[in-house]
Amino acid sequence: MAHEAPQASGPSKLVIRNIGLLLSGALERPILDADTIVAENGRISAIGRRKDVDTEGATTVVDAHGTTVAPGLIDSHVHPVAGDWTPRQNQIGWIDSFLHGGVTTMISAGEVHMPGRPRDVVGLKAMAIFAQRSFWTLRPGGVKVHAGAPVIECEMVEDDFRELAAAGVKLLGEVGLGGVKDGPTARKMVGWARKYGIQSTIHTGGPSIPGSGLIDKDVVLEADTDVIGHINGGHTALPDDQIRCICEGCKRGLELVHNGNERSALFTLRTAREMGDLNRIILGTDSPAGSGVQPLGILRMVSLLSSLGEVPAEIAFCFATGNTARMRALDCGLIEVGRAADFVIMDMAQHSSGKNILHSVRLGDLPGIGMTIIDGIVRTQRSRNTPPAGKVPEIVSGH
Ligand SMILES: [Zn+2]
Repeated sequence: MAHEAPQASGPSKLVIRNIGLLLSGALERPILDADTIVAENGRISAIGRRKDVDTEGATTVVDAHGTTVAPGLIDSHVHPVAGDWTPRQNQIGWIDSFLHGGVTTMISAGEVHMPGRPRDVVGLKAMAIFAQRSFWTLRPGGVKVHAGAPVIECEMVEDDFRELAAAGVKLLGEVGLGGVKDGPTARKMVGWARKYGIQSTIHTGGPSIPGSGLIDKDVVLEADTDVIGHINGGHTALPDDQIRCICEGCKRGLELVHNGNERSALFTLRTAREMGDLNRIILGTDSPAGSGVQPLGILRMVSLLSSLGEVPAEIAFCFATGNTARMRALDCGLIEVGRAADFVIMDMAQHSSGKNILHSVRLGDLPGIGMTIIDGIVRTQRSRNTPPAGKVPEIVSGH
């Protein structure tokens, strides 16, 4: 198990050349006209044609061999606990397995599966700070896990949010998984969180497991969290008319998760498209969950939304990259100079009936992953989880 992620030692310069297709992650321009990326010390420093960019002095050269490069995928909704272990289905190594599904960044929606999770205010604050620190120190496989997402309880006061923010907590866990289930209290606390720079999300829909509760459109709209967590349910979705009310009643993020209702995800997608609001669509898995962990969950959502939701594949990839990065103010998720050099390198899976990778995703197939890179460092080569890619990239020099 890859517990110790390799760290760059000294100056590094990564060159990825012979890129066949470059997906930007940006809805307004999802495909870039370039065949080479240069990243220095973990950040993208140049994007262009090979003859136009400075590739001298590379410490690592990757020959993409005509494959597709995209920003590393972002899972907007996970429930980590500690290290690379989840008690939910008693699995070890689940985050490393997600890396083999192209996920390089994860956002915690609350460390709610912690056995014996404290619900008193001092305890929940301590646990959030612990989770934030421990996942920032230990990156399973290199994956950036943004954790430390306390679940609000009725006894909290404004000063608790100030204290959490000062200690480095930047996220709230899903509103509704704790004692606060009513709109007015949620709105007040979400407002305090926002005042101190803490992002918020909410559990939307019916209870996930015995003990959690229903959150309907009235509570969602009143709470006014930054992200409408799993608007397609986790797994029980709200009725379509309530989903439409939420889409139309606010401008917040519309999160679609793998462990939700697929039909409702497609309904949300169509509604957002009608409204011209595809920039609000972001993807998560909501794993670990009752249905397990899904290392390919984000890829499966991209393929589902592209094939059944009739969205070009290059647009569906934006839901899992640039949209999430912009909404959550992350420094990754887009192929842009200055951004983190986090990439997934893919090709059409062997024996797909598609004409090329984008067509294969549009037909509902998954791409094959040939390499992942985080902070300019190669983390994995041919994926152990995806169908095998037709072509795979190769490290031609460096380590
Ligand atoms: Zn939930």
